[in-house]
Amino acid sequence: MRFEPFADGPTKQLIDGVPDAIVLVDGSGAIVLANKQVEALLGYTEEELLGQPIEILVPERLRHRHVDYRGAFSRSPSVRAMGSGLMLTAQRRDGSEVAVEISLGPIATPNGVVTAAAIRDVTERRRQADEIRRTMWYLKSAVESIGDAFLLVDEHDRVVLVNSTARELFDGPLEDGVGERTFAEVLDGSLAAGVFDSPFESRASVRARWLAYHTAPDGLLELRDGGGRTLRIKERRTAEGGLVMLIADVTEDVMREEELHRAREAADAANAAKSEFLASMSHELRTPLNAVIGFTQLLQRDRKEPLSERQQERLAHVRRGGEHLLKLIDEVLDLSRIEAGRVTISPEPVELSDVLAEVRSSLEPVAERAGITLVVEPAELKPVRADRTRLAQILMNFGSNAIKYGREGGTAVFRVQQHGAMVRLTVIDDGIGIPETHRARIFEPFQRAGQEAGPIEGTGIGLTICKRLAELMNGAVGFDSVEGKGSQFWVDVPLFPSATPMPSAAARAAIAESALAGATTRQLVIYIEDNPSNIAFMRELFDELPHLELVTAPTAELGIELVRARKPALVLMDINLPGMSGIEATRRLASWPETSRIPVVALTAAAMTRDTARAASAGFHRYLTKPVMVDELVKVLEELLAPG
Ligand code: ADP
Repeated sequence: MRFEPFADGPTKQLIDGVPDAIVLVDGSGAIVLANKQVEALLGYTEEELLGQPIEILVPERLRHRHVDYRGAFSRSPSVRAMGSGLMLTAQRRDGSEVAVEISLGPIATPNGVVTAAAIRDVTERRRQADEIRRTMWYLKSAVESIGDAFLLVDEHDRVVLVNSTARELFDGPLEDGVGERTFAEVLDGSLAAGVFDSPFESRASVRARWLAYHTAPDGLLELRDGGGRTLRIKERRTAEGGLVMLIADVTEDVMREEELHRAREAADAANAAKSEFLASMSHELRTPLNAVIGFTQLLQRDRKEPLSERQQERLAHVRRGGEHLLKLIDEVLDLSRIEAGRVTISPEPVELSDVLAEVRSSLEPVAERAGITLVVEPAELKPVRADRTRLAQILMNFGSNAIKYGREGGTAVFRVQQHGAMVRLTVIDDGIGIPETHRARIFEPFQRAGQEAGPIEGTGIGLTICKRLAELMNGAVGFDSVEGKGSQFWVDVPLFPSATPMPSAAARAAIAESALAGATTRQLVIYIEDNPSNIAFMRELFDELPHLELVTAPTAELGIELVRARKPALVLMDINLPGMSGIEATRRLASWPETSRIPVVALTAAAMTRDTARAASAGFHRYLTKPVMVDELVKVLEELLAPG
């Protein structure tokens, strides 16, 4: 039953040479030819197949349907792919099945029309297609589960993948346009539909901003639309030159941020108000205290009408009470400013020998009175990075505690050690120590570790301030104590990193050097002050300084005229004056050649650090806060008025 025309010769060779398996089937469905590949693919030799119905190659469950198909084909034969779009399956000789693709073509022969079927193994192709389908499914499901709108744009700017959130967001242009429209076209469609209309921005501006960002995405793009919605857009380039785009509706986050921002502003304003309140409160409290402490000192020093011992004793109580109150006001003020974040630290290279010398000379008189020896241990001192004034404040605090809580005949030792990149400054005493039960809370405000009922005066705030200040300088504080034996308190501050040259101590000392030429018999001091009780106090003080003459002026304007006219040896300047401030007046004096060399000492009730900083930059030679300590003022006058 072999199909004679192709039975042998070149035609058969040709058919055997093609890569597909080929069978020819006659009008009755019988196989009349099979090429070599049929055996390779299905396991039958040509001999075994010749004369068999073609259904021998179809899995049994499909055979009856195949007979019908074959009938339909022979009624209108044409070249086509069999069952196009269907997964076809052939059955091998051993019963196993194989995925195939089959092309059919009618061939007219002298013996009638035969059908040629080319059969190709597509197992691998189908596996790959399945794989791709599965991957696509994962991808789509992942993209869909992103809460934000997602778009993928190819290297030609065509939108090729989106999720349903993106479809909804762009409202329309993405419904049917995926894979065809560019992103610019999609955006234009949405803009035209009013999707991103906003009272804050024109469509043209939204378009320009978005496309500019789209061309060179950097950071985030934010849009705010008319519905009060805020969209945060993030685009990133893909390796293929396309883009991924995520659009998040962050309306709620933004509202929360704005709420937080408003709350923070309100809190800042409240804090500023508190700070201002404290500043003026401190001024108001310090002014009458100035009178109390000042006049007490004058009474104590009164040589014309000396007080009785009893009166002196009582007066000493008044003075101590006043000074305690003053310290309390200053410390509360300082602490509340630190807590409000208003204390700015200006880190600079600090030469420790300078600071230690300064602390020592301030504490020496107190230590002497308490019968305690101050020792500064010699050490190789490298500069540290700190705020000089604040570091000195910490050491003063530790030092005065070591004296206050020390024992007569004892010592207070200042030790400096380097630990890696930090320097530790320790103040060691052999005093009363701190009971175990109080140690944990020693750095908390108003904790006096059992001293509240004792005879040693204090506020319990000093150590809290030390801790906060150290932290502001990137440092830390710590302590160790044995009850009845002594304590050591330390502060760690960072070493100053480079070998930057230090401003010389001489430069600072030069400030103190007044250019006063040889003192005349009575030197003139001009006091610019508007408060009558302060003026009265100063007059009484100067009564006791016969080599000095005091002239006062109630305003800065009058005061500087007076200074220009009389060229005094020294000016005492109040800062809070009606009209021109003492700071401005000092600046002006410094700017005129005939007055620039006259030393100016600031006297003010404003103990705020901010004022201190302002005053320092105004060019004062000294800065004394009220209430003025008589001894301190006299010392400053002596220094600045000393001949040469
Ligand atoms: P105060 O104004 O009471 O001295 P501080 O904050 O400076 O406040 O110190 C808190 C408490 O810690 C003190 O009241 C004291 O009981 C204890 N204290 C601080 N330094 C020492 C020390 N060197 N020796 C013993 N006790 C100390």
